[in-house]
Amino acid sequence: MKDSDCIFCKIAGGDIPCTKLLEDDAAIAFLDIGPLAEGHVLLIPKHHYVTVDQMPPDVAAAVLKHLPALGRAVQSAVGCEGFNILQNNGPVAHQVVGHVHFHIIPRNSGDEFRFNWPAGLYPKGRIEQLAEAIRKELATRNL
Ligand SMILES: [Zn+2]
Repeated sequence: MKDSDCIFCKIAGGDIPCTKLLEDDAAIAFLDIGPLAEGHVLLIPKHHYVTVDQMPPDVAAAVLKHLPALGRAVQSAVGCEGFNILQNNGPVAHQVVGHVHFHIIPRNSGDEFRFNWPAGLYPKGRIEQLAEAIRKELATRNL
């Protein structure tokens, strides 16, 4: 399934060039042309899914199996101290291209990339309420 207006579908289909790192039947990885750091990689499914929750489990597995090797390769190649894997779903989560993609972002002490991570606390009993609601949703889905 392709979306003719989707830049990542065009990259996956070879209609737009990319600096390709790996490719198989399910996935393609390439260097982001607007990197947050040198060696910033994008890993995408070849088929068009807008958000990660739309991906069938077997497709997700076939794409995500590349993350460990890509992480090791990027760390070795650019000599970074660590890396983030970032995946955004929906405009509110800063998803700009509507085709699932996983960022592998090299990190070094003192770099400019920042997270605002406003961790909170649950009121008494709320964490179990939420867990029950999520477990109920999981039980109704075909996993
Ligand atoms: Zn697409």
